[in-house]
Amino acid sequence: MKIMAVNAGSSSLKFQLLEMPSEEVITSGLVERIGYYNANFSIKVNGEKVVVTKEILDHKVAVELVVEGLLKHHIIESLDDIKGVGHRVVQGGEIFKDSVIITDEVVDQIRSLNDLAPLHNPANITGIEAFRKALPQIIQVAVFDTTFHQTMEEDAYMYATPYEWYVKYGVRKYGFHGTSHQFVSERAIQLLDNPKAKLVICHLGNGASLCAVDGGKSVDTSMGLTPLEGIPMGTRSGNIDPSVLMLISDKEDKTFAQVLDELNKKSGYLGVSGISNDSRDIIREMENGNHRAKLAHTIQIKRIADYIGSYYVYMGGLDAIIFTAGIGENAPEVRAHVLDAVKVLGVEIDHEENKKRGEHLITTKNSKVKAYIIPTNEEVMIAREVLRIEKL
Ligand code: AMP
Repeated sequence: MKIMAVNAGSSSLKFQLLEMPSEEVITSGLVERIGYYNANFSIKVNGEKVVVTKEILDHKVAVELVVEGLLKHHIIESLDDIKGVGHRVVQGGEIFKDSVIITDEVVDQIRSLNDLAPLHNPANITGIEAFRKALPQIIQVAVFDTTFHQTMEEDAYMYATPYEWYVKYGVRKYGFHGTSHQFVSERAIQLLDNPKAKLVICHLGNGASLCAVDGGKSVDTSMGLTPLEGIPMGTRSGNIDPSVLMLISDKEDKTFAQVLDELNKKSGYLGVSGISNDSRDIIREMENGNHRAKLAHTIQIKRIADYIGSYYVYMGGLDAIIFTAGIGENAPEVRAHVLDAVKVLGVEIDHEENKKRGEHLITTKNSKVKAYIIPTNEEVMIAREVLRIEKL
């Protein structure tokens, strides 16, 4: 059965068509620069990327192109070949504690959460509406970045801010990257053959978050009301004293929105190093002796280690640390320095194994706490959710 996994941004639409339950990728593609005259539509046909540049003024046209492309290249023979579409939705708030079949009411509920994710939810809805129009007879499922974290206890998700802010406006920690943390933790539980395992998942990509998973459930995570909270990332600052907003706003005559934008887009690796948001550039320049590149790296390592230590205490132990996403899967230096920073917990890295790629153990036989690389796969997780929800 063919299931489509969709991730719609404000000017982009990423998709993957999977054969389920075998989880084989049939094709994948991307529409970029939606809203422009020179938008790009790319789709893989027999492993080759086919690219078309043309005017694509909205998501509806983008979805029509995707469907046309699938038929034209005989990836599907009829629309009925697609049995379900899964949509990534960033913010599910406290409304969605599970993935859900999309109805008009669900779309309204997702829209009601726009204030909590103004950069993401409206774009996700645009994608959903376009697919519902193009494929009205096919079941569509919303899979939220936040639902995996809905198992956090109050002491983990509440901020120590006036309680009315929570009651009136939903001010609390929601956490993100939930589909990735869920996919990776389910795999770690299989590898450890221990459903009660205590895990820390380090999803380190351009966006980055950590998650404490106890017995398959998220008990804490580093991102908060928005993805800005937590460890420093490619361009995000992670945790700072909120008073910085006032100071920079005053000194540079900028609005809070402008300063917030700099905390989201000009901070992290990029802000500290002044070089790049990409870990490859940071590591290269650090090895060339650049002080600020080294500082960007060491700040991040310290903050990751801080979270791992606090999750160890919160869960009362730790069986494994898992690295995933662009940096977690590909940057041995980052993994080695993180594991070295938490060696007091009983972690002993195997440096030879750490140099290798793909899913495997990177600690020695004697290591009390294990560490693994487990490549993430959010599309597969979305397709699995469509299958599970469809069968309910
Ligand atoms: P993601 O957001 O998961 O796609 O991760 C993207 C980030 O992963 C990039 O910005 C890089 O910092 C990092 N990355 C990707 N490939 C490599 C690599 N081969 N070595 C080091 N870092 C990498």
